[in-house]
Amino acid sequence: MSQNPSSRLRGYHPPEPIEVPPLYAWPPRPVAAIRWLATQMLVPWGFIFLGLAIVSWLFFTPSMESMSTLSAGWIGLVWLRNAVLLGLVAGGLHWWLYMRRAQDRTRKFNAHWLATDDRKFLWRNQARDNVFWSVVSGCTIWSLYESVTLWLYASGRMPVMPVAETPVYFGVMIWAVFFWSTFHFYFVHRALHWPPLYNLAHELHHRNVNTGPWTGISMHPVEHLLYFSVFMLWWIVPVHPIIIILTGFFQGLSPAVSHSGFERLQLVGTAGVGAGDHFHHLHHKHFNFNYGNTTAPVDKLFGSWHDGTAESMARMKERLRSLRSRRLAS
Ligand SMILES: [Zn+2]
Ligand SMILES: [Zn+2]
Repeated sequence: MSQNPSSRLRGYHPPEPIEVPPLYAWPPRPVAAIRWLATQMLVPWGFIFLGLAIVSWLFFTPSMESMSTLSAGWIGLVWLRNAVLLGLVAGGLHWWLYMRRAQDRTRKFNAHWLATDDRKFLWRNQARDNVFWSVVSGCTIWSLYESVTLWLYASGRMPVMPVAETPVYFGVMIWAVFFWSTFHFYFVHRALHWPPLYNLAHELHHRNVNTGPWTGISMHPVEHLLYFSVFMLWWIVPVHPIIIILTGFFQGLSPAVSHSGFERLQLVGTAGVGAGDHFHHLHHKHFNFNYGNTTAPVDKLFGSWHDGTAESMARMKERLRSLRSRRLAS
């Protein structure tokens, strides 16, 4: 549990370079690709969010009949269900890692704890600031997008794809959620780094160089409008409502895990599960690369992939220098 003082100061840096998933390997590695798709990609968090989506659909989603007309009552219930789950996931991680400090700084990317006296945060407190933006703006815009999407299906404007009649399609759509979300995230996030949009909105998320679970969807409302527009695919591609709810959970809950600040969550002794996303941590630390996620490695395509190694860091710096000089020359 303890680390020597020098590694504490530096924070945890995973020794292995971040690799592109075997799905994209050339020459192809079909066995490794299938293994990745069936296990590494989804264990455990993908399955946890899928389980939560099924339970939510069965017990914590208004009936299709009541959702067939838009009304504040049932939309409020969708908001409440999402807010409670966000509180359980982000709040639970925050309690375990930052209040109870159950694993001290073991596998913590940034050696420091969250800010408690910094004027750039509301009430000078990073955690409270993050909770405010996540719950008041994030959860509300997420729930509105989700409610409009569910209404389109409940009112007959979109056909519901029954699981029993289209089980293979349902299965494929589960994977589609994860790929679509990360692909969509790259382009929305890249647009948010366009200076006018960055200054207006995305700067708020980047105030968190050192991230915690509540940082995940701590964003400006304009960023939330773009970020949760991920639901709009289901306005033209028919799915089952479980897929719609899963989309919300992957977009709204999984960032609490990826921003947790700890590469691994230790639950019993040193046993635990993977948590924080090193790839996205590097984005918070350095800003100018790793705009997407590893599941859909668009950064690799556009040369903004930083794998965490010193050589990659040098390449990224060189890339930035040439981009700047090209901009100055034009
Ligand atoms: Zn982030
Ligand atoms: Zn960013």
